[in-house]
Amino acid sequence: MNKDHDDSQFLKETFQHILQISKGECSIDLEKVHNLEDENKINILGGLKMLHEDLDLYKSELRQNMEAEYKLKLLEKRNQELQQFNYIASHDMKEPMRTIKNFSDLLSKKYADKLDDKANLYLSYISDSSNRMYNLIDGLLDFSQINNHVKRNEVDCNTIIDSILRDIDKVIAENSAQIIYNELPVILGDEIAIRQLFINLISNGIKYKSPDRTPVIKVSYSNKEDTHYFSISDNGMGIKEKYQDQIFELFSRLHINSEIPGTGIGLSICKKVINSLEGRLWVESKFGKGSTFHFTIPK
Ligand code: ADP
Repeated sequence: MNKDHDDSQFLKETFQHILQISKGECSIDLEKVHNLEDENKINILGGLKMLHEDLDLYKSELRQNMEAEYKLKLLEKRNQELQQFNYIASHDMKEPMRTIKNFSDLLSKKYADKLDDKANLYLSYISDSSNRMYNLIDGLLDFSQINNHVKRNEVDCNTIIDSILRDIDKVIAENSAQIIYNELPVILGDEIAIRQLFINLISNGIKYKSPDRTPVIKVSYSNKEDTHYFSISDNGMGIKEKYQDQIFELFSRLHINSEIPGTGIGLSICKKVINSLEGRLWVESKFGKGSTFHFTIPK
């Protein structure tokens, strides 16, 4: 066979090879590369081999990305469904619960003298439990309403704290609490979510006060290069080190209801709000001395 025929055969094969690569299905015959004497042809086949390896790498990266994207989509969908379910369930349960609560209160108010002691005691159990249930549903509803993809509007933290202090003025007065804060920033976030964050941390500072002193809550702010850094400190009862991570979990409480009532949802809401803003929330505390909750929000 002459050289021209050899060359055209080689070109034909190379072309076929490129076509196969473009379809993502080539394989290279290494034997062929070794048997060749023409340096140009060796280079061409070497190039094809590299193309083939690149293609393999690309295919496996593509497969991994597609798998990751699929899993993410599935997770987002599940999350959305769960959030919707949570909202509907809590919303629909709230009404009947309110009715039970109102009527048991009414019953014990209007008929207390007509019922014997046992009946009055049972009624007070119903009233307490329905109250607790109502607060739990309310908390869950708040929790489900914090979205992972929050709106990012300008929120003035001074206005938020002012309105919170007006809302909880009775609790502040009853506990002779002192709330101190200086100039706070305007940040980007969802107003309702940011409000939830501050109200939970400030009210906890009062609720978990020390038996020996009146509560002093301090809201501090520091403007870091690329984050807003907030700290909310109290002089309350403090939290033992071994519980300091656990308190952020849903329904996690360190006190029984008859001691200090609560739902164990407040700090989970705070965590969810901060996660949705891609920030960080943690606590530093000395048992018996007080706690400081720190959180950062990227600018
Ligand atoms: P709740 O107050 O309804 O129990 P939270 O999620 O707000 O729910 O708090 C979880 C637990 O963390 C509380 O039960 C309490 O034991 C502890 N905790 C939260 N804030 C403080 C605080 N400022 N000082 C001491 N303990 C706290």
